[in-house]
Amino acid sequence: MPVKLKQLKSDMLGFISQVRDKKTKKMKLVRTPIRLDEYPSLFVGKLEKTASPGVKTVTYTAKVKSEKPPIDRAATGTKLQTSAQEYITTIRFHDVRFEDTEFTNSIEASIFSNVKDKKTGEVKKVLDGVFYHEKLSVDKHAVSLKGLCTDFRHRWETPLKAANAVIGQPRKYNRLTPPPPVGRPFRNPKNKLGMCKHVWNLLLELREKGEVSEF
Ligand SMILES: [Zn+2]
Repeated sequence: MPVKLKQLKSDMLGFISQVRDKKTKKMKLVRTPIRLDEYPSLFVGKLEKTASPGVKTVTYTAKVKSEKPPIDRAATGTKLQTSAQEYITTIRFHDVRFEDTEFTNSIEASIFSNVKDKKTGEVKKVLDGVFYHEKLSVDKHAVSLKGLCTDFRHRWETPLKAANAVIGQPRKYNRLTPPPPVGRPFRNPKNKLGMCKHVWNLLLELREKGEVSEF
């Protein structure tokens, strides 16, 4: 079942944080909901693009930096990390049309292969040639994703894997607390499909750069 990025625009993002109840003085878990497109934009680092005409894929990878959660920390009394973490984030588009020559709205892509030097054993990138691929679309192209943040791992990786939309093997995930209501609530109880804010921001960057068409 191919998954399109448009399907993944979930409304399920939110922070689960521990807050001390002012009346009972006990700690409780509070979810602060936020939609993906309400999220402040994150910094996307240098973009790496790998176009593979043989398997008809185009893959983009960048480090995406998390910013401070946009909630009033003083008001809720939450303890959330303030340092901006960077996560390697990847989006791969499948079934992409490639041609040897330019066509309407095509995008140029240099294709490299890794060649090992027989004497030194050193692996070098050698330019195979220039190809052209169609502009990518959130409606048309199936995608597979990889994200190294905990949200991707705990909320999205399992349902995406079931939909055949994860790059590589998902990491093993062991719950640290008992099931709810004793432990923390399930992040994604209905196994909805979705993407984390890092994937979303990489997608926005690709739209900004003209690699992905408007959505
Ligand atoms: Zn992420």
